[in-house]
Amino acid sequence: LPHEFEQAAPVLRRLSEAGYQAYFVGGAVRDALLHDHIHDVDIATSAYPAEVKALFHRTVDTGIQHGTVTVLTENGQYEVTTFRTESTYQDYRRPDHVTFVRSLREDLQRRDFTVNALAMDHTGQITDLFDGLGDLQRHVLRAVGQPEERFHEDALRMMRAVRFQSQLSFTIDPATETAIAHHHDLLKKIAVERINMEFVKMLAARDRASGLATFIATRLNEACPGLAGTADQLRTMLSDVPMPLTASASVWLRLAAALQLDQAAVGPFMRAWKTTNEERRQVKGLLPTLQKVAAGTADAWDLYNAGPDFLTVLLPVAQQLGIASAPWQARYAALPVHTVGELAVHGGTVMARFPQLQGPHIGAVLQAALRAVVAGRVANTEPALLEYMAELPEIKDGQH
Ligand code: ATP
Ligand code: MG
Repeated sequence: LPHEFEQAAPVLRRLSEAGYQAYFVGGAVRDALLHDHIHDVDIATSAYPAEVKALFHRTVDTGIQHGTVTVLTENGQYEVTTFRTESTYQDYRRPDHVTFVRSLREDLQRRDFTVNALAMDHTGQITDLFDGLGDLQRHVLRAVGQPEERFHEDALRMMRAVRFQSQLSFTIDPATETAIAHHHDLLKKIAVERINMEFVKMLAARDRASGLATFIATRLNEACPGLAGTADQLRTMLSDVPMPLTASASVWLRLAAALQLDQAAVGPFMRAWKTTNEERRQVKGLLPTLQKVAAGTADAWDLYNAGPDFLTVLLPVAQQLGIASAPWQARYAALPVHTVGELAVHGGTVMARFPQLQGPHIGAVLQAALRAVVAGRVANTEPALLEYMAELPEIKDGQH
């Protein structure tokens, strides 16, 4: 058993000693078998939520109506979810209600893809009802059961398919892909926030090109905010350098560039995608800077204004576009100051030295000094700055 599973095994043992079935399920089992990094260890059990709670000292009702209880242990916390089926999907979105069941089979049957429908017990024994192991070996994503039916039940699964395709570098089984192409329009029924999460994961993954190619080929883009009729622009991203992105704002920045959105258009586009205010602020601020970096014309003042986002959000996108990042990184590091607080002169010093200066002019003088320091025209020392300021029109003209 992988270390993460060893840590969680006491939870499984406690459940099985009490007479319930309990398994590791979902992405953790898939990733363990692929020798990928395991994030969340999810546990499925035949015990009902109240029964789970009765067995452990410390639990949290994370999603009790869906059957999920978080169990807190010395080794970590684990989501323990009761086996369930999701019956009667009426609106292509979410199950009308979940029914708790005692059978592992029914629980695995409701899962999206065969590689996500594997269960492992605390001895490492695998339950594989849909040849998920074969698909793992062949690197194939295949819907559990009838793909058409499964996408009808929950259209988000189509986005999950392309997201996993990018994250795992798998191919999509032809019948599953055909069903996505047929049903791409059903995605319009899904809440944008949920599409957003899968879309960003797809584009942040190293092998974004594989999922993106399917996203375009199946016309899922036609059902997404602001992406109808943009297949040609999206295709330009297929030749990006394959590398993972860590900041979601990088994803939106790259996308804005591909769609050739300007600063005015990017706000409404991102709003339609229900992005966060922070993501919008970052992308609006960085979009013109990215264009200058791509053209090789960004100056010290552009870099200063981008701030730390320059390194964490913009440079990864530049790399994705094939622009060498090391020289830009060095130029950013070499800025004489990175914040106004690092300026050797503050408002108080300016007022003391130039008492005749009007209030509103103090800010202007400091801003001019900041620009000069960032551009390397004046040394960041108090004497050099005061000398520079004395020659500024606000001060010089005020003295006569
Ligand atoms: P990740 O590594 O991103 O967490 P994951 O496979 O664990 O991948 P989750 O979204 O955490 O994905 O979901 C956990 C499991 O729940 C999945 O592996 C799958 O079995 C099931 N699942 C999640 N969403 C759906 C869905 N919309 N339809 C069917 N099954 C789903
Ligand atoms: Mg998960």
